[in-house]
Amino acid sequence: MDNNYDLILVGSSFASSFFLLEYLRRFGPDRRVLVLEWGRRRSHQENIESRRHSDFDFEDIAHNPHPTKQWVSNIVFGGNSNCWWACTPRMLPSDFELNSKYGVGVDWPIGYDDLEPFYAKAEQIMSVSGPDDGSPFPRSTPYPQPPHRFSEPDRVLKQANPDTFFVMPTARARVATKNRPACCATSTCHLCPIDAKFTVQNELAWLYEDPRVELRLNAKVTHLELAAGVAKGVHYEKDGRTHRVAGDLIGLCANALMNPSILLRSGVSHPWVGGGLSEQVSNSAKIYLDNLDAFQGSTSLTGHGYMLYDGMHRRERAACLIEFSNKPVLRPEFGRWRQILPVKLIYEDLPKLEHKIDIDSGDGKPRTIFGRHSDYTQRAIDENRQLLARAVSALPVESIEYEGQVSRTEAHILGTARMGTDPSTSVVDPGLTMHSHRNVLVLGGSAFPTCAPANPTLTICALSLRAASML
Ligand SMILES: Cc1cc2nc3c(=O)[nH]c(=O)nc-3n(C[C@H](O)[C@H](O)[C@H](O)COP(=O)(O)OP(=O)(O)OC[C@H]3O[C@@H](n4cnc5c(N)ncnc54)[C@H](O)[C@@H]3O)c2cc1C
Ligand code: SF4
Repeated sequence: MDNNYDLILVGSSFASSFFLLEYLRRFGPDRRVLVLEWGRRRSHQENIESRRHSDFDFEDIAHNPHPTKQWVSNIVFGGNSNCWWACTPRMLPSDFELNSKYGVGVDWPIGYDDLEPFYAKAEQIMSVSGPDDGSPFPRSTPYPQPPHRFSEPDRVLKQANPDTFFVMPTARARVATKNRPACCATSTCHLCPIDAKFTVQNELAWLYEDPRVELRLNAKVTHLELAAGVAKGVHYEKDGRTHRVAGDLIGLCANALMNPSILLRSGVSHPWVGGGLSEQVSNSAKIYLDNLDAFQGSTSLTGHGYMLYDGMHRRERAACLIEFSNKPVLRPEFGRWRQILPVKLIYEDLPKLEHKIDIDSGDGKPRTIFGRHSDYTQRAIDENRQLLARAVSALPVESIEYEGQVSRTEAHILGTARMGTDPSTSVVDPGLTMHSHRNVLVLGGSAFPTCAPANPTLTICALSLRAASML
């Protein structure tokens, strides 16, 4: 036994840092917290120079036998906060009650109102910029930062669709914060050259300097030691040796690929541990415009279209969120270079139990088992080829060119330890504590019972803040 801690967290990205922030705020100076992080700390400059965010490729950490589908996970201090694009919509109230409202999927065991104060807090921590003239979801507070500037096509769409078209909320700074300059619309946000988007490194690294917190880097957690409904210890590898530490409370924050793999290696057997692997599906299109220039916005993605998102169509086909891009693409026609508008249509999918993470019996790495997105999603993709034209009919559209294939990944791994009130069909309770082991929390996107079109990270952060507030 190396030592005994009040709290052990596995991972150092969004799920972990937002939980830690609230935990340190609530509890006194004598608490001892250990954070075990597999990766090392890479500076922003090192990431820019090497054009990488991690020392590991995906194949080093997991197996993905699918011929076309990809998943993204980076092992590094701060996790995917280093490379995310920083789009921060909330989920809609109806996303939490998909089954009651539309008879598909399942309801979440919590509602929008349960999460609203934590959404507001997470937006404050990230200094999110968002619309000041309405919002697709109810809000108790204004956005902390003013909205980004629309492009001209966005402006036309907002005028025609005041209730379903909005400035995209984002943690790409509209105005400088203490630690970040204002975003200048370079549109390479996975490697933001000026460090303008929120990352754990630029805004929350101070958490890991708190005297109550010990950060152990290059420490790969392999499994938990479980007995009689509690976790007794955490086993990890560091410097070629295996170690064991004990903690009163353990938070797995290693993402929806790694959380279930740690649980499976610990001997937890439940169909939904690993089951329900899912993420959104997207396809892209280019809208050719007649005599209207695009790309005047102040960040990489500026408009959010909710015209195809919510409504009774969700009984039959998936919701779709439309992202309007300000990332410059040239139209290959002399004098009309900017008369083009790239959009991405992001669809919800219905998680299936048979899409899952299991463990390779040879090397112990997680392995993804995935077939194809649901018919529910495919119906929306097919139908929206017509409906997109109607949704953007306020624009002078010449033609719309769709990409043939859906994208290989949305880089949002979800499901795999879903939350619910029934221990036979869910892994964690609404406070993200395991039903079976009451001192283990499983935080992050693994808890999502469904996958709404909204990018998930703001919800992940709000859930972590809420879980820590419930201790
Ligand atoms: C290119 C890209 C763009 C994205 N853009 C957006 C966006 O615009 N909006 C949005 O909402 N989401 C976006 N995402 C998704 C977003 O990054 C994830 O939702 C988010 O990072 C999940 O946070 P997390 O803390 O749960 O996990 P992660 O960020 O994946 O972090 C997991 C942490 O655990 C550590 N770890 C893993 N295994 C172990 C182990 N065995 N032992 C110890 N430590 C371990 C990792 O090193 C890492 O620090 C994007 C993702 C990518 C890749
Ligand atoms: S648009 Fe440019 S400045 Fe803004 S966050 Fe993206 S890369 Fe950084």
